[in-house]
Amino acid sequence: MSVVEQPTATLHFPPLQPPKRYLFGPGPTMVDPRVYAALSKPIVGHLDAYFIQVMGDVQQLVKMVYGTTDGSALVISGTGSAGMEAAITNFVEPAAKFAVFANGYFSDRLTEMAKRHGANIARFEKSWGEVYSDDEARDFIRREKPQVVAFVHAETSTGALQKGDAICKAAHEVGALVIGDCVTSLGGVPVNFDETGIDVAYSCTQKGLSCPPGLSPMAISERAMKWLGARTTSPRSWYLDLKLIHDYSTVSHRYHHTAPISMFYALREALMVIVEEGIENRWERHRRANRSFVGGVEALGLKMHVPPEHRIANLSTVRVPPGVDEAKVRKHLLDGPGIEIAGGFGPLAGKVFRIGIMGPLATEENVQFFLREFKKALNAQGYEA
Ligand SMILES: *Cc1c(COP(=O)(O)O)cnc(C)c1O
Repeated sequence: MSVVEQPTATLHFPPLQPPKRYLFGPGPTMVDPRVYAALSKPIVGHLDAYFIQVMGDVQQLVKMVYGTTDGSALVISGTGSAGMEAAITNFVEPAAKFAVFANGYFSDRLTEMAKRHGANIARFEKSWGEVYSDDEARDFIRREKPQVVAFVHAETSTGALQKGDAICKAAHEVGALVIGDCVTSLGGVPVNFDETGIDVAYSCTQKGLSCPPGLSPMAISERAMKWLGARTTSPRSWYLDLKLIHDYSTVSHRYHHTAPISMFYALREALMVIVEEGIENRWERHRRANRSFVGGVEALGLKMHVPPEHRIANLSTVRVPPGVDEAKVRKHLLDGPGIEIAGGFGPLAGKVFRIGIMGPLATEENVQFFLREFKKALNAQGYEA
């Protein structure tokens, strides 16, 4: 008699044992042990009163990190790009005029999404690493008279921080809503949502908030909520429909989709860690670590890609010195001490290292550890300071 073979019997894998990594890249970033502990807590139902309470807590905490008292917080089940797509599908109607400040990879992604939603797009192009002055921002918006304006606050592909004040002021003068990409900035540098005048902001959990990837916290101004309430057409995405998500998470608590319970636990804990440190103290810690990092990098004879006044405290772009193969430097760091950093892409491919000194890594000790290993990796590629 032949024995029926069990196909699954041949599927054997070793137990999960992720290598130890120091995540000094643009994201995902290091996670506090308390957040890992929160991830392992037992789940409850997504309509359970306990979970509804957790969602409510998360919304309050999200408002705090964004710096909004007047706005609403909503959390999208998905990564930062889901928040980006939620912003586009809800606030950019087909044929609407959409003006985008295009100075990096993520403004291109915004453009692509708006294109797929049928928007009429106007782009203000600048090279990667540059930002827009107040006058340039105002002139562009006055000329284009868009219905929606989008800018990337911390452009992770270039290391440049775009201030939003002048953009928001000019946009509101022409009656436009402003979408601000705060994916890397939230939790790392001040966003000041209300003060800046942003209408729709989205972020992620795995960069400035030191949490694993999986959720996209959003802030939405009163003006934008009113606009959305008055919108008569349905957004093209059902899953990302903010009216439905708002109803589920803050009004009726009726089922829309099954929220990823464990990720909400994790985000709540990550935000509690931030509250306990104090958001201002956290920003200051990132600024201090950045000063020390830049000092160390310049002492090695390397150059920063972005001028000092436009840098992002938690994400830096360092120019690759001539003759050095940046991919080999990164491989050296990963294979040796287990340090992950990122390279450039698009017009900056091969030209910059992208290095995140954020969350638990933003301390003097960790900066010095990184600089020592970075120097060794560069030296191994023949670079001498
Ligand atoms: C990472 C990033 C995104 C996309 O977020 P994902 O979580 O990777 O989907 C969007 N915008 C900026 C500025 C980012 O850095």
